[in-house]
Amino acid sequence: MKNLEIAIVGGGAAGFFAAISAKEHFPDAVVTIYEKSNKVLAKVKVSGGGRCNVTHACFDNKELSKFYPRGTNHLRKAFDLFNTTSTIAWFKNRGVELETLSDNCIFPKSNSSQTIIDCFEYEAKRLGVIVKIQTPITDIVKLEKGYVLYANENEILVDRIIYTTGGQPKSTSLSWAEKLGHTIVQPVPSLFTFNMPSEPIRDLMGIVVEKATVRVEKTKLEADGPLLITHWGMSGPAILKLSAFGARILAEGNYDFAVLVNWLHTMKENQLREELEKVKDTNSDKKISNYNPFSLSSRLWNYLVDKSSISQDARWKEVTGKAFNKLVNTLLNDRYKVKGKTTFKEEFVTAGGIALDGVDFKTMESRYQKGLYFAGEVLDLDGVTGGFNFQAAWTTGYISGKNVGL
Ligand SMILES: Cc1cc2nc3c(=O)[nH]c(=O)nc-3n(C[C@H](O)[C@H](O)[C@H](O)COP(=O)(O)OP(=O)(O)OC[C@H]3O[C@@H](n4cnc5c(N)ncnc54)[C@H](O)[C@@H]3O)c2cc1C
Repeated sequence: MKNLEIAIVGGGAAGFFAAISAKEHFPDAVVTIYEKSNKVLAKVKVSGGGRCNVTHACFDNKELSKFYPRGTNHLRKAFDLFNTTSTIAWFKNRGVELETLSDNCIFPKSNSSQTIIDCFEYEAKRLGVIVKIQTPITDIVKLEKGYVLYANENEILVDRIIYTTGGQPKSTSLSWAEKLGHTIVQPVPSLFTFNMPSEPIRDLMGIVVEKATVRVEKTKLEADGPLLITHWGMSGPAILKLSAFGARILAEGNYDFAVLVNWLHTMKENQLREELEKVKDTNSDKKISNYNPFSLSSRLWNYLVDKSSISQDARWKEVTGKAFNKLVNTLLNDRYKVKGKTTFKEEFVTAGGIALDGVDFKTMESRYQKGLYFAGEVLDLDGVTGGFNFQAAWTTGYISGKNVGL
């Protein structure tokens, strides 16, 4: 009997994980990775600033799934089959030691993404996975039995496919899947920082506020965490989270919107008013610029005082009426105009791709075509920064490989 021919389209994170899983579960199958460029695992190489943030120390599947603006419900089920604990064990069993940093991001102990690449390439070779580079798959057609892949004017006949081509800037590259019944969700970028070309706060570049809450005006979008002021606007985990959860809505508005910053994290107006009254009672003769009651940097404090139209020389006892109200508003609802976005350290992901309802996440098989599987960022799923995007690639890659030969 002829051996099962399994094609893995795309030699990235999900592609390698799927190929290794497929060959481990179905050793008799012929597993071939088709990669369009002349290099496999290119994104793994540059990931995490060359260190590769492989996963995140979050060991509760329900909590883990909340880090994915798109894919929460589907991934929650998939994490029951392969989660962060599985990832750590997978690498450990193959001799790759990982370490968890204080922010719960997990990296190889070697601090080099090459360790991950070496591990994948070694495993693929050991198992007999075939890798064909410079082989872009431009079309896929279903046959009565199996599929034909079109590559460099060649036709490749295969029995099964795991499609792992990553985030695609254009949905046209997936028109073959649309013809086979899949819905393609329009791709838009996720994970970016906010440009604020008209905002003088940019002069405070480099200042970090450890805990701020940022909301997008006129929406329910809200995120908290560290906020970094940059020379082009704002960045840091709070902003990146907001960009991920708001990826679609912000794209629809052409990245022209306003944010409201609560510089005091979750503090509410009543509480702040009480605290400021206390400050006024106990420090009434001190200059507002000399006595900053919050853990904000003095440069930022003075900027916020200015923005509230209060003189730096004003004494606390003089901060009354309108000035008092304005200070409260600036501290809790400080408005900034955003116009445009900037990539964060080259790291970005694509929201959109193959609609999730067309895929059975217990197997990663298409609900419309037998023998067709999907894994990784080509699906309409993506996470915030911190190792979550690779975790989705490992999870979906592993499950697809485990089922592709059944
Ligand atoms: C600079 C950067 C840093 C990042 N750092 C991290 C990080 O530290 N941690 C984290 O979790 N996530 C990180 N990410 C996100 C993460 O890299 C991706 O989510 C992940 O690589 C997705 O894996 P994938 O296999 O689905 O896609 P990819 O890794 O993009 O692989 C897809 C592969 O398919 C190939 N391909 C595409 N079309 C075709 C075709 N038609 N025929 C054949 N081959 C094709 C591509 O050339 C590519 O090799 C980073 C992203 C970037 C851009």
